[in-house]
Amino acid sequence: MKKIKKYLKKNLTKERYEHTLGVAYTASALAMRYNNDVSNSNLVKRAQLAGFLHDCAKCIGDEKKLHICDKNKISYSKIEAEHPYLLHGKVGAHIARTKFKIQDKDIIQAVAWHTTGRPNMSLIEKIIFIADYIEPSRKPVSELDSIRRLAFEDIDKAIEKILSSKLSYLETKKSASIDPMTKAAYEFYKNIKERCTYEQQ
Ligand code: FE
Ligand code: FE
Repeated sequence: MKKIKKYLKKNLTKERYEHTLGVAYTASALAMRYNNDVSNSNLVKRAQLAGFLHDCAKCIGDEKKLHICDKNKISYSKIEAEHPYLLHGKVGAHIARTKFKIQDKDIIQAVAWHTTGRPNMSLIEKIIFIADYIEPSRKPVSELDSIRRLAFEDIDKAIEKILSSKLSYLETKKSASIDPMTKAAYEFYKNIKERCTYEQQ
């Protein structure tokens, strides 16, 4: 953890580092709330670690991010090539694996997918996706306080709400493209209630 914090302090802007601390803190709180498995006492630490790592590639330049992907055979879509900031998750996951030797698959996936979310996320992926959106220093967006509350009440509903807010925000912004994964994730979490009842039958 020391090595990671040192790296982050050196490679992130002051604001991004503050945000990272907020995400790690919020992620550990969410893990305390949702840890139902007493045999899994590591969850809080793992969520905290994923929080520290999630934006580790955020301050790498666009050209360099694309170069890292090409060099390491990390595939990316046309939208990601046009908007390389979308790649900071995948590149961050690569750094976590290679530089910090993280092998925990949930942590790696949480870093990789934290911007868009994806269908059927693991608990740690969900926690990082939410913590990134609600951490204390996050700039206020509409309904942030109700989403913060919902995050500790119903994790899947909170995911659905955040995805729908992200999608409507992106729709208003002409220059931004919507990553299809965000849409797929939204469809999944919007229908999760029906899916659960269906699976129980
Ligand atoms: Fe990010
Ligand atoms: Fe972030």
